[in-house]
Amino acid sequence: MFRSRVSLALLLPAVLALWACSQTPQFIAKDEPWRADEERACLAAGVVHETSFVASRDSLGGPSVCGALRRFTVAATVHGSVQLRPAALLRCPMVPAVDRWVESVVMPAARYYLGSSVVELKVAASYSCRPMNNVDGANLSEHGHANAVDISTFVLADGREVAVKSGWWGGLAERNFLRDVHRGACGVFTTVLGPGYDINHRDHFHLDLARHGRDGEGRICK
Ligand SMILES: [Zn+2]
Repeated sequence: MFRSRVSLALLLPAVLALWACSQTPQFIAKDEPWRADEERACLAAGVVHETSFVASRDSLGGPSVCGALRRFTVAATVHGSVQLRPAALLRCPMVPAVDRWVESVVMPAARYYLGSSVVELKVAASYSCRPMNNVDGANLSEHGHANAVDISTFVLADGREVAVKSGWWGGLAERNFLRDVHRGACGVFTTVLGPGYDINHRDHFHLDLARHGRDGEGRICK
């Protein structure tokens, strides 16, 4: 009897530690009125239309600080010619930004460096209510506002796949393509992080429309 009590007492803290580990990581969320203002302006401007590849629904996430006023599920971009797999859950301003990047940067770069067109982007992440880099106690990620998308691979019409993970330091054509696509993203998004930034981004490009700096006009391109 005595022995079983001792073993239970030893086991209990271990069980509690495991329970604590399994809990969702916590984050810090700031009050940022610009987010809703920007989203409302985008919705009022009517720049995003429902199509066979863009579905729209009221509200995303909640009741919490995560999410958006309106949910857009984007299964393809550039008039449906480039698939997003799986479909990305995005807030309004991100939809035309992805479209612009793919059409004006990714497609020409694929033709120039790889001699083929891009038909699909693999989406490693879009909406996710979590702290930055999943670090407990960090600020809420732009993914939590559906204001970010992670792209891991570009699929070409000829069947080739250019993955950020292998291509960033791969053959010359892939390297040039990925660097061009990364650099070009910096003219569209306000945050662009790739393998040159840190180990968390070794296998994807993180693209978002966060505001940086005191005037909100800063950009991060790494
Ligand atoms: Zn990301």
